[in-house]
Amino acid sequence: MQATDVFSTTLRALVLNASYEPLRIISWQKALIMWFQDKVEILEFHSTKVRSVSNSFHLPSVLRLKTYIRPKRVDGVRFCRENVYIRDLHTCQYCVKKFNHKDLTIDHVLPASQGGPKTWTNVVTACRPCNQRKANRTPEKAKMPLLKPPRAPTWLPVIEHEVHPDSAPMVWKDYLRFKAN
Ligand SMILES: [Zn+2]
Repeated sequence: MQATDVFSTTLRALVLNASYEPLRIISWQKALIMWFQDKVEILEFHSTKVRSVSNSFHLPSVLRLKTYIRPKRVDGVRFCRENVYIRDLHTCQYCVKKFNHKDLTIDHVLPASQGGPKTWTNVVTACRPCNQRKANRTPEKAKMPLLKPPRAPTWLPVIEHEVHPDSAPMVWKDYLRFKAN
């Protein structure tokens, strides 16, 4: 099979844990190997077919591990805007609605003008209208309670670094909702 250019990134496979929690994204080649090794069951296929000498078959799109594995945890998640959004699941911590990346901002809980630091425990995800409404006030002053107190994450789902929710294949979207909190 000589088809690398045909198999763009959209033909990668999403791997779910036995618990259906998304774990990672792998190449279609790796997906086939895992399938041949009987490590996974295939839940969804891509519409694209692969042809070998004697056979043709659809490539797997969503795989589920037959055995549960403990998700990898990382110590000291890097502090940056993107990771704050990921920690907060792209959800405004004031109005509790989910937003696209471009409609989100980061908000200092204790405003920077009052000495609030740019740290995991003082920065949350906020939509633009909420950020503007809160302005230079604390949540108490603004009467805008936080969904939950911000904390430094000990881990982030690896998956979030590899696929933006907006660009995930349609068929993955149902499974990505099962993301671990
Ligand atoms: Zn909001």
